[in-house]
Amino acid sequence: MDIRIGQGYDVHRFGPGDHVMLCGVAIPHTRTLQGHSDADVGLHALTDAIYGALAQGDIGRHFPPSDPQWKGAESHIFLRHAVDLAGKHGFKINNMDVTLVCEYPKIGPHADAMIACLSGITGVTADRISVKATTSERLGFTGREEGIAAQAIVSLVAA
Ligand code: MG
Repeated sequence: MDIRIGQGYDVHRFGPGDHVMLCGVAIPHTRTLQGHSDADVGLHALTDAIYGALAQGDIGRHFPPSDPQWKGAESHIFLRHAVDLAGKHGFKINNMDVTLVCEYPKIGPHADAMIACLSGITGVTADRISVKATTSERLGFTGREEGIAAQAIVSLVAA
């Protein structure tokens, strides 16, 4: 049985704004995340995890930041591309697990909405999707609230 595991990691910095996009959900906040696209760290980490499992590079290879067509892009486009690429290689997503690292906003109240959104984008049932969060005890760049980090792990199995 051919099982693939992939992991992804991403960081985006805070800038002026009134909401953040996390795992496809807009959460009101005192700042926003800055980036070439909508800066959704959760979706970016997850997308890279799938590319990693497929040994197909990273999000920057498939969607170069130098290409103006991806400026302000909604990141579900990237995740959907990775899922479709998995299908082309004969794989489907078995499960996915995302960890968001930040002090604020608090993720818990939004986790179910994020899982529902990820399920909608990927077609994976909600019982195979995990979104969880941790602070970094006020240490480091996430602890100083300079940005948000995300880690993701996925497993793929033959479709
Ligand atoms: Mg990113």
